Amino acid sequence: MAIEFSERISRIPVYPAAEGYAERAPKVRLASNESPWPPLPAVVEAINRALPNLNRYPDPTNSQLKQRLSERYGVPVARIAIGNGSCDLLLAAGDALLEPGAELVYAWPSFSVYPHLPAASGARAVTVPLDALERHDLQAMLREINVATRLVIVCNPNNPTSTALSLAEIADFVDEVPHHVCVILDEAYCEFNLLEDPDASIGLLDRHPNLVLLRTFSKVYGLCGLRVGFALCGSEEMPRVLDQVRQPFFCNLAAQAAAVEALRHQDAVTERVTRTIAERISVDERLRALGLQPAESQANFCWVPFGGEDPERAAEREAEVMRGLQERGVLVRAGSALGKAGALRVTYGTTDENAIFLAALEEVL
Ligand SMILES: *Cc1c(COP(=O)(O)O)cnc(C)c1O
Repeated sequence: MAIEFSERISRIPVYPAAEGYAERAPKVRLASNESPWPPLPAVVEAINRALPNLNRYPDPTNSQLKQRLSERYGVPVARIAIGNGSCDLLLAAGDALLEPGAELVYAWPSFSVYPHLPAASGARAVTVPLDALERHDLQAMLREINVATRLVIVCNPNNPTSTALSLAEIADFVDEVPHHVCVILDEAYCEFNLLEDPDASIGLLDRHPNLVLLRTFSKVYGLCGLRVGFALCGSEEMPRVLDQVRQPFFCNLAAQAAAVEALRHQDAVTERVTRTIAERISVDERLRALGLQPAESQANFCWVPFGGEDPERAAEREAEVMRGLQERGVLVRAGSALGKAGALRVTYGTTDENAIFLAALEEVL
């Protein structure tokens, strides 16, 4: 007799993990939108200082980290939630908001964790295609909201397509969403967005108790190996509920210590963003010189569709290019694994890594 699992197990998609983790030495890893630079030495020191205390449980209230985030963002401690990565907060929000009969709305293609929420809860997912410029179509998303809707997710800038909407568009959208619907604005890449001051969206929280800004230490802070994210919320109820549905010690001791220290080095964050944007400009220019048309990136990665009229031909081209890059030791993500075949998603790395990627791509093309 085989073990009998719950019915939802057959629905929950398996997260499309990037390949190559088992490989010894891919030359260049540009598949997971990680920072190419290691954590700052001061952050590594803070982690080391925390390690002798691993016989103790971490602070379940995350009080120091919440305090620092509150000072940094001007949001009261009671409206901040911490997570074991921001994915933890996404899943918790799904748990807290969704159930059979409920609906959630998100764009597609967007972050590959979102489909987990309807599958796990039995809620109905309404996915709204991106517009011709690979951006969220907020008007179309608004039209899908009804009395059954509990959650709308907007990923800005959007993963995997790298595009962003202006704050004015987001603000108008949130104004139109009914108060019973939670809006999660997933801002994992907001620091790389040149359209806005990354902190501008925080002003929306005071007007919208149903809004949640989801942020992470995984990308610009280079701490994805430790797993720590946070949510800035429009209400005190939201962090309380998110804590209610999770295990008590979701954010580990080293992660809390690292995040607290990382927040002290905002100048380094700015400097890394500047370096990434310089790479973004030069890589996109080279891609265009190769006859490709990357989407307008406001993130630390680009989205490169293999245009043309024929989707089947574009998918074939994606597979050929993926294979060619892999043979040359370059790991990127295939669009087909991220919701849209016929494209590549490529993280901007260091100048050297990008040069290796571009040389390999040129050979393959
Ligand atoms: C990387 C990413 C996250 C962050 O995930 P963590 O769990 O914090 O590592 C969240 N949302 C999107 C869209 C992402 O691409």
